[in-house]
Amino acid sequence: MISVFGSVNMDLVAYVDAAPALGETVTGRAFSTVPGGKGANQAIAAARAGARVAFLGAVGDDDFGTEMRGTLAEAGVDVTNLRTVPGPSGIAQIVVDGGGGNSIIVVPGANGAVTAPTEAEIEVISRSDVLLLQLELPIEAVTAAARAARAAGTTVVLTPAPVQPLPAELLEAVDILVANEHEAVAITGQADHERALKELRGTVGWVIVTLGARGALTSSDDGAAVWVEAPRVNAVDTTAAGDTFVGALAVAHVEKQPADQAVRFATAAAGLSVQRAGASSSMPTRAEIDRSLS
Ligand code: ADP
Repeated sequence: MISVFGSVNMDLVAYVDAAPALGETVTGRAFSTVPGGKGANQAIAAARAGARVAFLGAVGDDDFGTEMRGTLAEAGVDVTNLRTVPGPSGIAQIVVDGGGGNSIIVVPGANGAVTAPTEAEIEVISRSDVLLLQLELPIEAVTAAARAARAAGTTVVLTPAPVQPLPAELLEAVDILVANEHEAVAITGQADHERALKELRGTVGWVIVTLGARGALTSSDDGAAVWVEAPRVNAVDTTAAGDTFVGALAVAHVEKQPADQAVRFATAAAGLSVQRAGASSSMPTRAEIDRSLS
């Protein structure tokens, strides 16, 4: 089983020709609400890729909270321990302009109220094979969850996004770190992702740097970095590609697939997700991933 201790946001997406400057009002072309948040995305990706998944985190006591609880449950994610806290759910207000560029405001809402895991949550984490963590919850809470998982022998997978300084006690409790190129460079201060991977490998057992359309670089047991190419596809929307990658990787890890095979499985899943628009709605099912690998 996989547990996710992470964020749930409602993405409020407005499509405009040109983004408004401060003090300006513009008329948009379209609007949509899309369930998101890195935690929820990774949970749904893992459920679709074929694992049992439990979600730990918080939504607010508003309509968005109800809707997002429903979205997770519909995807087969266990929301028994998802907290409802007073106040608004987390949201991301996104403006997408005519050129595909975007600006985003994240208001953490309920996510910001998440504290260290409760006893019931620690029990779920302890029963899990893998715990997925990102940095959209307060870092003290994420660190406490990582340490609880480490104490129970649950594999800890961290996505260090949004980028911020990582406390040593968090990094020391991480078994698998999956960072995109930008995150890997930013958290190490190294000049490029190869050096970043090497440095991170000093603390974390298994480091993977995702490289967009180029695939991923993964550390191997003998210390060398191995490049796994991404499939050549027609990418229409790379939203949540990294989250799909992590969700699928966790599933492969639970199934005890060898490391290189697990990265190929994750790369195949992410490669499928970028061919469809949307975040959770673009994530492939297990049958689709298996078909693309055969
Ligand atoms: P993030 O989404 O976190 O920024 P990346 O852009 O590195 O992360 O993408 C994560 C993974 O998604 C990549 O390692 C790759 O497997 C897959 N991916 C992303 N963009 C493409 C693309 N254009 N074609 C094929 N696969 C892609």
